[in-house]
Amino acid sequence: MTEKDTECISRAVAMATEAHKGQTRKTGEPYIIHPLAVKKILEEWGMDEDTIIAGILHDTVEDTDLTLNDIKDEFGESVAFLVDGVTKLSTARNGMRDIDTYLPETKDNFLRLMIALGSDIRVLIIKLADRLHNLRTLSALPPDKQKKIAKESLEVFAPLADRLNMGLLRVEMADLAFKYVNPKRFEELKAVIDKYNKSAEKSLQKIEDEVSAALMKEKINFTISGRVKSVYSLHKKLAKHNQNMGEIYDLTALRIIVDDITACYLTLGIIHSLYMPMNGRIKDYIAMPKQNGYQSLHTTVITKDKRIVEFQIRTKEMHEYAERGLAASFYYNEQKLTENYKKGKIEHLPTNLLWITELQMTAAKLREGKKVDLRKLKLNLFADKIFVYTPKGDIIDLPKGSLPLDFAYRLHSEIGDHVIGVKINGKMANLNRKLEHGDVVEILTSKNQLPKQSWLDKIITSHARSKIMHRLNRSGKPDEHRKKRKPRSH
Ligand code: MN
Repeated sequence: MTEKDTECISRAVAMATEAHKGQTRKTGEPYIIHPLAVKKILEEWGMDEDTIIAGILHDTVEDTDLTLNDIKDEFGESVAFLVDGVTKLSTARNGMRDIDTYLPETKDNFLRLMIALGSDIRVLIIKLADRLHNLRTLSALPPDKQKKIAKESLEVFAPLADRLNMGLLRVEMADLAFKYVNPKRFEELKAVIDKYNKSAEKSLQKIEDEVSAALMKEKINFTISGRVKSVYSLHKKLAKHNQNMGEIYDLTALRIIVDDITACYLTLGIIHSLYMPMNGRIKDYIAMPKQNGYQSLHTTVITKDKRIVEFQIRTKEMHEYAERGLAASFYYNEQKLTENYKKGKIEHLPTNLLWITELQMTAAKLREGKKVDLRKLKLNLFADKIFVYTPKGDIIDLPKGSLPLDFAYRLHSEIGDHVIGVKINGKMANLNRKLEHGDVVEILTSKNQLPKQSWLDKIITSHARSKIMHRLNRSGKPDEHRKKRKPRSH
């Protein structure tokens, strides 16, 4: 407990401590350490009191004798509602492990996730804080659990943090998780980044001095600092550029924070007068913010000693928002917010986050029992990806439009090569059937089965394509496809 705690928060801490008494974490520490860590994270994010109280109590309904009613009596409807949302999310998640309880009438758990999300975005923020602390203490778990939680964090929670523009959280989560998902690659890339930063140190200092001098001459108020690229974002970028380090231009970036928008553009002009900007690398996210509300000017320049450096220029407010995202807007609107939430209004959201409004409206309809066409719903949450589940509850992400064979090859080429059928949500399905968000996919195999030419029409991922081609060629059959192809003229 800290001195700042309000009377309500102190009471919540006492209640949770009592409820979790005798329980321990895998680390051997008393369980209460975990809810208290979640409390601290939510405080750091500047969340409102109800969210902090719900964070302290987030595991009590699921794991202790406390009931939702106890919480309602003690802290009111709003806190109880948030705790309920977090509990539902985790029940939905656990339910996915058991195909029988998952089927048939709850269309999918993603829907339940949405209902919870639509009810109150603070539910997700508590869940993110919960996951962050679990990741920070992941070393105490057995390796198979570590991998599973880390993978889910990379595929669901870090993208979610990105969607809410919570930049600091996204980076910490992704790097913590990536270390468990692919330890070798993590160390490799970390060494690359460290080495690069060391070699760039001196010349970056020189550039920083030059820019500072020029900005001072123009009487611009500013702070400048280096920004180190995260391991996971480098990994992703390298994958996009065929592992070619030469195409990574933002390994080091300098970040300049100024007072207002005019100063942002002035600063951009000054930098371009000092160094040669690279073609096509000027991005105006101030005039055209990213979908998650991120705003900044980016430019990549070539310095006099032929170094490539990226600059990011933004105001203090934009910077705050880039790092803390939706949580930051809660901070600014804390007073108004709770009232708005009670009334179900959310007009405090930045316009770039209006997709949340859309989700909330859909969720409200679902709660009232109205029919909703989910296909019509623009789910910007995860852009072009779908998330499907193995019968054991592992989450597999695939590009939208993927088919069962894409899924099978994604699991393992040994599984892909021997597919004889597929069950989707417990029912036999055609290999042409497009997979949807939340589907539980079970692949049936037989040793005697081998890939056929016609399978090439039943996939959309290049990964599956290359595996099938490889197998078709290896099996000694003449490769009709390749033989017939004539050189094309363009
Ligand atoms: Mn928890």
